[in-house]
Amino acid sequence: MQVVFWGTRGSIPVSGPKYTEFGGNTPCLQIKLASTTDTMIIDSGSGIRELGLQLARTADLHSRAVHLFLTHAHWDHIQGFPFFVPSYIPTFSLDIYCTKDAKAILQNQMRPPFFPVTLDAMLAKRGFHLLSSDAGVPLGEATVRNIPLPHPQESTAFRIDEHGHSVVFATDTEHHAEGINETLAEFARDADVLIYDAQYTSEEYKAGKQGWGHSTYMEAIKLARAANVGRLVLYSHDPGHDDEMLLAIENAAKREMPGLVAARDGMIIDL
Ligand SMILES: [Zn+2]
Repeated sequence: MQVVFWGTRGSIPVSGPKYTEFGGNTPCLQIKLASTTDTMIIDSGSGIRELGLQLARTADLHSRAVHLFLTHAHWDHIQGFPFFVPSYIPTFSLDIYCTKDAKAILQNQMRPPFFPVTLDAMLAKRGFHLLSSDAGVPLGEATVRNIPLPHPQESTAFRIDEHGHSVVFATDTEHHAEGINETLAEFARDADVLIYDAQYTSEEYKAGKQGWGHSTYMEAIKLARAANVGRLVLYSHDPGHDDEMLLAIENAAKREMPGLVAARDGMIIDL
């Protein structure tokens, strides 16, 4: 299994010379499974655009089946979807999985006057799947499970297990005021990689960001320790944090937990 980070920024894309190290695309992960050449994607932030172009370019090298899992419908997690080129190509298939009505969400995003064409302009064979927390979704020999995350309008954490390897994606979410989110710690137990919402510094969080639905690197470290994960990845960088600040955050966090890394657009983790 391989995790490719196409977008790592929370809230809104950013660009410019202050963001070249970490990148500025909003959430999108590609999970390359060992047991199938179907493409698994989590979230369709602006990062999905480049991924879609690559999938279209390399269409003869892999299956044309795409499985897109959505954590929730906040703009930054769906805003790239109308620019996902494979969804306009009839020979591709696109299955979308969400705990909410993804068809209604994506139709709304593309209806007039917000976008020039509607969802029906997408000619890939489409399927929509309503997720429950009870049953895992099989993909090749992998299983994708989910739990709800505390967040305004609720988000979803995903765990992918394949051939004894595991990765957990847990954004967007706000930590509990006291202790840790035990349900999430149990869900992430012994995972090789935990990708977790670290949008704010502790100082920013205390200075008025409670209730916005995001967490901090100190909370990420607490959770990663409790869940005994192999490697922590800080994710959902605040658009106000430029490279200089993110490097300072990453260095401060590494003093607490040396093996962690702050996600960058283009980063690849092999499991
Ligand atoms: Zn959100």
